[in-house]
Amino acid sequence: MTPSMPTKEEIARDVEAEVAAAVKSRADLMEMAYVLESEAADRYAELADQMEVHNNHEVAEVFAKMAAIEGEHAKKVELQPGEGPKRAPWEYRWIGFEAPETTPSEDLHYLMTPHHALVLAKVNEQRAEAFYRVVARLAPTLEVRNLAAEMAEEEREHVELVEKWLAKYPEPEAGWDDDPDPPNALD
Ligand code: ZN
Repeated sequence: MTPSMPTKEEIARDVEAEVAAAVKSRADLMEMAYVLESEAADRYAELADQMEVHNNHEVAEVFAKMAAIEGEHAKKVELQPGEGPKRAPWEYRWIGFEAPETTPSEDLHYLMTPHHALVLAKVNEQRAEAFYRVVARLAPTLEVRNLAAEMAEEEREHVELVEKWLAKYPEPEAGWDDDPDPPNALD
């Protein structure tokens, strides 16, 4: 028998199993939530700065708003004594390639429009919602399942918020990434 590539379903099952193994208690859930909300806030703030550097104030503003929302969310995660991140950031990469709410920077284009920024934000928020939904389904105790379900609802609200902004910023015409004066590659 030749080994075959795992199917999408198998990968999804692996991620679910990893989430289920990693989040068993309230403390586990709070640890993950704290890490992912604060990482999301940091990343959105970083993106806002990057967009400012490229003089794209419109997109910078969108990311600054997302950073504020996620920052608020991270603050709401109630850490009790002894709770909080115990692992190095790279050890949280078991779900997908990074903590579920962070935006991979390779998806960024310096000329990206608010539309593109919001599409990325939507993917992040959906990934976060999916993460909490898995916990809400598979956690061993009702307390953790309920908490995760509440958090999934909050992420659902973030998705809806992003969708509202997306309605204001429809997909731009082809050619949005044409730059008559491209940045010097040696910069
Ligand atoms: Zn969120």
